[in-house]
Amino acid sequence: MNLPSVRLYDTLARRKEPLHPLEQGVVRIYSCGPTVYRYAHVGNLRTFMLPDLLRRSLEYLGYRTEQVMNITDVGHLTDDTFDRGEDKMLVSARLEKKSPEEIAAAYTEAFLDDIGLVNIRPAAHYPRASDYVPRMLELIEALIQGGHAYVVDGTVYYDIASFPAYGKLSRNTPGKLMAGHRGEPDPRKRHPGDFTLWKAAGENRLQVWDSPWGPGFPGWHIECSAMSMAILGDRFDIHTGGADNVFPHHEAEIAQSEAVTGHRVVSVWMHGGLLMLSGSRMAKSAGNFFRVTELREQGFDPLAFRYLALQAKYRAPLNFSSEGLAGADRAVRQLRERVADWVRGERGADTPDREEWDSRFRAAIADDLDTPRAMALVAELVRSGVEPATKAGLLTAWDRVLGLDLHRGGKELSLPDGASALLAEREQAREAKDFERSDQLRDQLAAMGVAVLDTAEGQRIKR
Ligand SMILES: [Zn+2]
Repeated sequence: MNLPSVRLYDTLARRKEPLHPLEQGVVRIYSCGPTVYRYAHVGNLRTFMLPDLLRRSLEYLGYRTEQVMNITDVGHLTDDTFDRGEDKMLVSARLEKKSPEEIAAAYTEAFLDDIGLVNIRPAAHYPRASDYVPRMLELIEALIQGGHAYVVDGTVYYDIASFPAYGKLSRNTPGKLMAGHRGEPDPRKRHPGDFTLWKAAGENRLQVWDSPWGPGFPGWHIECSAMSMAILGDRFDIHTGGADNVFPHHEAEIAQSEAVTGHRVVSVWMHGGLLMLSGSRMAKSAGNFFRVTELREQGFDPLAFRYLALQAKYRAPLNFSSEGLAGADRAVRQLRERVADWVRGERGADTPDREEWDSRFRAAIADDLDTPRAMALVAELVRSGVEPATKAGLLTAWDRVLGLDLHRGGKELSLPDGASALLAEREQAREAKDFERSDQLRDQLAAMGVAVLDTAEGQRIKR
């Protein structure tokens, strides 16, 4: 099997590197998934679009993929809030008067619905953190045994000074973290950058597990070390996350996993750029966020958001605005209509350069998932003199990667009674060069709410 070579930007190497899967032809991917005590906003969805785009691209190029995405149903999000003893899952549970399990189940379902709306295909595995606590305890025990962790009053901290490579992903080395530390140092920590592996349970906690250090709950970072290695083994190909996961989450994951195994676990680290709204990052805490269902309620096609995202490099920050979304919405609907027209159009000889167009598309996605280049190629193909059936065929094939439902145009366009007969008559009139009749028919159709445009490929209709 001769698969095309793929180059991906590795955050750790800080350059594009050729992908060499551990198993020939199969790419195994671990993706940091949602925390299920709240709804995902479109900024989160952009992050989850990266592994989807990665998988679709690799599969288009002939690889097989296996993706694991964890579900964080143990309620802490960041070390900061975590260290203050807050537990968002519990806050939600109290606010909504439900058990943490009920909260997690409800938001997991909402997450799966939301990703479906933007054509993010589900992962092969969705491990829940709460199911992997025994595995986390094993890792924490191994870290203590190996001299990488210490226990203070039932809480276990990772000793970042014990791992010389700490900082290799984010460049936040222990020295820099020490210099940048503000405020009172936590007297229980040896270094202000030490992070929590296991947190002693406070009072009134609902989610508590027994451990050799007393009752408590796991830190967020150890969850991903445990679940990734439990399912994919202690070496796998690609780890994805948002740019905001680089530090501390992934730096900590490397320190944990590599200290336990003694070798590199992840071959390529990929991070998606953040979604910005009026210059700041879309975040629940900042109050500037949208759910994809809200965009739909405003009349946008959810896939317009996907179109918008594809026009930017996945690594670049992307500005979100209603104007940008409206433009993407128009563009994706137009593209579908054209595909529908071309599919309906008469089939001519397949264009001899079909293969050449497709190889250009493959080259774009194989070059670090260069979707702006792929989308420019789409526009070039649309404008080109390529035979309509070939255009439709190429765009439908490429849509396996783009995921814009480009085949859907015809179905969206339901014509009022009698319109299709008038359209057929007008087609005949045009063929007979009876432009007077053709114009009359166009006016009649317009009165029915159907706009007709004459293009090189024939009539195009718009409701
Ligand atoms: Zn993670």
